[in-house]
Parts: sequence; C-alpha cells; structure tokens
Amino acid sequence: MDFTLPSEHRMVRDTIREFCDEEIAPIAQEIEDEHRYPEEVFEELAALDMMGIPVAEEYGGLGGDQLMYALVTEELGRVSGSIGLSFAAHTSLASKPIEAFGTEAQKERWLEPLARGEYVGAWALTEPGSGSDASDMDTTAEREGDGYVLNGTKQFITNANVAGSILVKAVTEPGAGYGGISTFILDPREDDGFEVVSEWEKMGLNASPTCEIKFSDCYLPEDRLLGEEGEGWEQTKKTLDGGRISIAALSVGLAQGAFEAAREYATEREQFGQPVSKFDAVRDMIVEMDRKIERSRLLTHKAATTYDAGEDVTRLSSLAKLDASETSREVAEDAVQVLGGYGYTTDFAPQRFYRDAKLMEIGEGTSEIQRLVLGRELGL
Ligand SMILES: Cc1cc2nc3c(=O)[nH]c(=O)nc-3n(C[C@H](O)[C@H](O)[C@H](O)COP(=O)(O)OP(=O)(O)OC[C@H]3O[C@@H](n4cnc5c(N)ncnc54)[C@H](O)[C@@H]3O)c2cc1C
Repeated sequence: MDFTLPSEHRMVRDTIREFCDEEIAPIAQEIEDEHRYPEEVFEELAALDMMGIPVAEEYGGLGGDQLMYALVTEELGRVSGSIGLSFAAHTSLASKPIEAFGTEAQKERWLEPLARGEYVGAWALTEPGSGSDASDMDTTAEREGDGYVLNGTKQFITNANVAGSILVKAVTEPGAGYGGISTFILDPREDDGFEVVSEWEKMGLNASPTCEIKFSDCYLPEDRLLGEEGEGWEQTKKTLDGGRISIAALSVGLAQGAFEAAREYATEREQFGQPVSKFDAVRDMIVEMDRKIERSRLLTHKAATTYDAGEDVTRLSSLAKLDASETSREVAEDAVQVLGGYGYTTDFAPQRFYRDAKLMEIGEGTSEIQRLVLGRELGL
C-alpha cells in the first residue's frame, strides 16, 4: 500500500515511526507496569505537531487528513496501545467535534490549545447505566439563567483525569429521545461541581487513564453549548464515523507490533535443531498474521480516504473497525503462541498487545454493535 501514499504522508509516517522506536518502545512496558500516563510523550508529540493532525492549520493543527491521522495512530499502536488510545480519544473524540460543530470563538478558546497539544482532551458519552444504548443517558443539563446546570455520572472516560477540556453529552429535553441530547464543553480544571470519582484498573491499556466522572450542580455558561440544543446525537454519530477509523488504525498497529515480535522471535528461537519459523505450523501462523494485517490496513485506509473525500463513511468505518479489531486480537493471540512460554511473560511484548487488543472489540461500539450498524447500512 506504501506506493499509493502521497510523499507528505510517508514523511509524517516515517517521522513518527522513528520517534516511536526511539522514545516510546523503550518505555512501553514500563508505563503499563507503573500504570503511568506518560505526559512527557504527549509533550514531545506536540513538539512534533502531531496533536492536531486532522485539524486545520488556522486552528493550530497540522492541516493533515484522516489518512495521515490513521497512519500516525497505527504507528503509535505498533509500540504502545495506551498512548495510541489516549491520542485517538484526544484527536477524533475531543478535538474534531469542536472543529466540526463549534463557533469561531469556541474554536479559538477550546480547539487551538488541543490542536497545539497544550493539553489532551476527553469525550464523555458512556454512563454506568448506558453503554451500547448510549442515547438512554441519565445525565441532564437544565437551563438556568444564561447557562446550564449539569448533573450525572459518566463512565469509562479516557483521559478525563488529565484533560484540559471534556466534551459531555447530556439530556436537555427529557423525553425527546435522540433529539433531546446536547453537547457541552467542560473545563475540568476550573468548573465547580465536577469531580473525577475514580480511575479504573484494567486488563490492559493501563497507561491510558479510564475514569468515572461526576457532575453535581455543575454550572456551565451558555457559550459552552456545542452547536445547537438537540444536536448532540447527530454530532455523536458523525464523531464516531471518524473515531472508528482511528480505532481500526490503532488495531492494525497493535497487530503489526505483535506480528513483528513473533516473526523476529521465530527466526531466532531454535528447537529440534532449527529455528521454529521452519516448522510449517509456526510459519503458517505468521503468514496468516501478515495476510490479516494487510487486509485490515487496506480497509482502514479505504475508510480514511472515503472520509477525506467527504463521502458517507458509516459503513466503511464500521467495517474497518470490526475487521481490524478482530485482526488485532487474533494476531496478538497467535503471537503469544509463537513465543511459547516466553510469550506468556511480561519480558516480551505480545502479551501486552493481546490484552490491549481486546479493548478494540469493545470501545467506540462493541463488535456486536458494529454488526448492528452494518446490517442497518445494508438495509437488513
Ligand atoms: C478502556 C476504555 C475506554 C473507554 N473510553 C471511552 C471514552 O473515552 N468515552 C466514552 O464515552 N466511553 C468510553 N468507553 C466506553 C465504551 O465505549 C463502552 O464500554 C462500550 O460502548 C460498551 O458499553 P458497555 O460497557 O456499557 O457495555 P453494554 O452496552 O452493557 O454491553 C454488554 C454486552 O451486550 C452487548 N450488547 C448490547 N447491546 C446489544 C445489542 N443491541 N445487540 C447485540 N449485543 C448487544 C454488547 O456488545 C456487550 O457484549 C471506554 C471503555 C473502556 C473499557
């Protein structure tokens, strides 16, 4: 696929690959073991102009496109799922909606610092009682004077305890269903009535914080409403069209990282007097990994270029996310197998990719929900 990439995209990909190999790979396991969000890495990504890749230059971004953003997300995933996940949540969920739906004043106040990487952003849709059925939310935003008062709890919010802004979905018109949901911009460092309740311990991705957050009579002035009242659900659907492409790209990266570890190990490890890669069973596992990764990458790039062409991308982004997330879990599982007992230890990377890959089949819509979306797109 390389030959079809424009030279600017290749240049950005090569820059980020070098950065990943030199700066992230050496600490990738350590930050997981320590459950440490690596703020310094995000500062370095900001210095490389990577924190606003698909955001226009006039708002502090790089002025790249979805394909370029997918390439970078894949490279991050190839070395660290955690960094890739926090990066993807920051870019497609927390920054892009402000560019797409915000006023000029909101873009200046909220988008520019995100795109310049002064801090990361978060996006809060899920609640303790509503995940797949996300529109069935309990968080409310009641009109009061010139603003709104937020009450409720959001669950599993990536970056919430390190974010400089959080986009929050809340019901402004109870009983109005999809049309009763709106989006608000929250300043977690300044707004009263906001609290990070807890950070989850997870089976993987522990350098990417996942939080429960709470709003208790949290007052937000009117200029924090993103777009119009009642547009929150339509915005969510459009946001997820882009977000799912980045989860697909992240999945391809995880798979690529696991594949490379397995291939290298298999050519070095000897049993019965020869490298284990010479056994048909092991070779076939590695060949299958390569096949699945190339397929998922092609699909992801197709979704990204369709998005960049401004065409409807719901089907392709869902398809890419479904396919790549399954690829990442399958490839990472086989990579553990190729390494045998060593694959089960934390001295080698495949176990980390395996644990991280599982989230790809859950976040931004489970695989079951992707099939639901795809069935609907096919008119079934
Ligand atoms: C690490 C991590 C990071 C996250 N980051 C964010 C974030 O930044 N912002 C945010 O808003 N959310 C975030 N989430 C939440 C995530 O998007 C949800 O967990 C996900 O959408 C699933 O919702 P749920 O956990 O409530 O599962 P449920 O919806 O309760 O699903 C339980 C099971 O039922 C199945 N199911 C549900 N409905 C159907 C149906 N109609 N048909 C078939 N099967 C169905 C599901 O597929 C699943 O297998 C994150 C989650 C994790 C774990």
